[in-house]
Amino acid sequence: MILVFLGPPGAGKGTQAKKLAEDKGFVHISTGDILRDAVRKGTPLGKKAKEYMERGELVPDDLMVALIEEVFPEGRGVVIDGFPRTVPQAEALDRMLSKRGIRVDRAVLFDISDEEVITRLTGRRSCPNCGAVYHMKFNPPRRDEVCNRCGTKLLQREDDREEVVRRRLKVYREQTAPLVDYYRSKGILITLDASRPIEEVYQDLKRLVDEKGN
Ligand code: ADP
Ligand code: AMP
Repeated sequence: MILVFLGPPGAGKGTQAKKLAEDKGFVHISTGDILRDAVRKGTPLGKKAKEYMERGELVPDDLMVALIEEVFPEGRGVVIDGFPRTVPQAEALDRMLSKRGIRVDRAVLFDISDEEVITRLTGRRSCPNCGAVYHMKFNPPRRDEVCNRCGTKLLQREDDREEVVRRRLKVYREQTAPLVDYYRSKGILITLDASRPIEEVYQDLKRLVDEKGN
């Protein structure tokens, strides 16, 4: 089963994708995580992507399409979070999958208000070592600002500052929201109320996966 997670930054896509990967053995592809890793390591991709990311803008489609082709695994059970983000990316993904004789089974839209997104992103803390994601109020670490799993000091993402978040929301509305119609017209769009607590959203997601099978 191939799932695409759609929705504004901060809607909870990464949180739910990580749970699905742990619980059901899905491969989780987060293009944001891959890019942040590339920036940290100073790879050629990281050097090209850095400034776009800092401004809250999208990295150009040609780089992103090449990246997804490189990392997409063989086999079933994949959840892609953060890709596609534009219609050309969605078309390229469809072409790539159809060459492999597969397709996107469901696009899951995480529906949430802008105010909620701002609260979530300004409280988000991430582990730079293992990638775990917390929220200081909604999903706090056990010890103050330290990762439960690996003990590393948690960081606030540079692009989670409020002015960059507002830019990212605008970019989402202009460039990514058209994908809702793209997937709706294919009859594979599912909308989740992402404003509920993490476990409630996850129960809906799990039901969806269990119904479809993988
Ligand atoms: P995305 O991957 O869509 O950008 P994240 O999964 O990183 O979003 O979640 C954004 C922030 O909101 C994180 O701090 C996360 O801990 C928190 N969060 C995620 N889902 C929920 C939820 N259902 N209720 C409250 N907070 C949440
Ligand atoms: P995310 O972690 O998904 O919020 O992504 C962080 C940043 O990485 C975005 O603001 C973009 O700059 C970049 N990015 C991640 N995925 C994509 C994509 N599919 N297309 C373009 N840029 C992306």
